[in-house]
Amino acid sequence: MQRRDLWKPLLAAPAMPAAAQQQAARANNGLPPLKITGVKVIPTSGGRNYRWVFLKLLTSEPGLYGIGTASNHFQTYAVITALEKHLGPWLIGKDPDRIEDLWQSSHYRTYWRNGPVNNNVLSALDMAVWDIKGKRANMPVYELMGGKARDAVPCYDHIGGRTKDECVEGVKRSMEKGFRHIRVQYGAGGYGGGGFIPPNEGNRPEGGYQGSAFDEELYVRTIADVFDYVRSKVGFEPKLCHDSHSHLTSAVQAIELARRLQPYQMLFLEDVLAPEQIDWYRQLRKITTTPQAVGEVFSHPYEYVPLVTERLIDFARCRVSAIGGITPAKKLATLCEFFGVRTAFQEGGENDPINQLAAYHVDISSTAFGIQEENAFPPSVHEMMPGCAEIRKGYLYGSGKPGLGIDINETVAAKYPLGEIKGGGVYGQDRTLDGAVVRP
Ligand code: MG
Repeated sequence: MQRRDLWKPLLAAPAMPAAAQQQAARANNGLPPLKITGVKVIPTSGGRNYRWVFLKLLTSEPGLYGIGTASNHFQTYAVITALEKHLGPWLIGKDPDRIEDLWQSSHYRTYWRNGPVNNNVLSALDMAVWDIKGKRANMPVYELMGGKARDAVPCYDHIGGRTKDECVEGVKRSMEKGFRHIRVQYGAGGYGGGGFIPPNEGNRPEGGYQGSAFDEELYVRTIADVFDYVRSKVGFEPKLCHDSHSHLTSAVQAIELARRLQPYQMLFLEDVLAPEQIDWYRQLRKITTTPQAVGEVFSHPYEYVPLVTERLIDFARCRVSAIGGITPAKKLATLCEFFGVRTAFQEGGENDPINQLAAYHVDISSTAFGIQEENAFPPSVHEMMPGCAEIRKGYLYGSGKPGLGIDINETVAAKYPLGEIKGGGVYGQDRTLDGAVVRP
């Protein structure tokens, strides 16, 4: 026997004795034992410039499968390879009913755990087995987690303006669409807007960086001024939030921004401190009551657990697929509930409909729910993914179908291949006048 043959008995699904099969069937309300029999990895651009990677788990029950997402916009091919070469072969023959066991054993399967790629892969598996369990039970996943704790899931809208008046108009338009919660960003140039010195202006090193340059004191002054103006025009009915996106290097400037925004009664200020500086939330908390939303780039429980248990933040803003799927998201929500913190699961424009629905099922069944970030998809995605959640008048609605409630039309997905990712697909970076990197 060659050395590689030693693995074959370990990979094959062991036959279950007849008595054990009968016992398992009784435990599953008469349903026969189930095995994972196949793994499909489905990368797609969705007809736009998405970089989505979906997992489809096939089972021993004809026609029964589950889907999940491992999408990672910046390390797309890493998750594809991890699914195809590592997770897939390990999964064949496993019992999809044992969600918690699969999550734990997959988490430790890689020895080095956590991190975005590992968690994305784990998330795809986790969502797919929740989807299978829901389909088997003929119930939406939220029913398996205690049922609805609210009628629908409120979302916050995104608006931005290059002037203060454009921000005011944006808030008014959003309210007309039915949104009660609205994120306000300012200026051209994306995150950090309001803090940029235009290209080629300002005192720069000879031969150095000439692009748009971030200045944190300018940003703090400008954003406080923007919210003063917006509140003076739209009043306090809309619940407003703002995302600093970790741009502030100086923690005291971050605290100063939170302090200056306090009179405008924010829904929350997001990522005013970078993950590398989260210990500063202890100082921030002593100085201002501006609510804090944190966690978009967290991928390790040691990042969010102390912030929740010390009650240093108000909203845990992790992305469900970045922390490992529905199973850890539900645990995080429960942790938040006991410490008076709420959830605000992150979406973002590059995110996909499966992750959105995974968040929805946790949101709608959790007492700790605070708010959900909105995300809407073009017609090509609705055609490719029947059962896509929909936002109507500021509320997110799932399809109500069993499982996650969404499917993948593989024929349509095949029309939109992923293709080459130019430049490696990196996240864009801002810089300061002297050419130093600003955190995204
Ligand atoms: Mg954010």
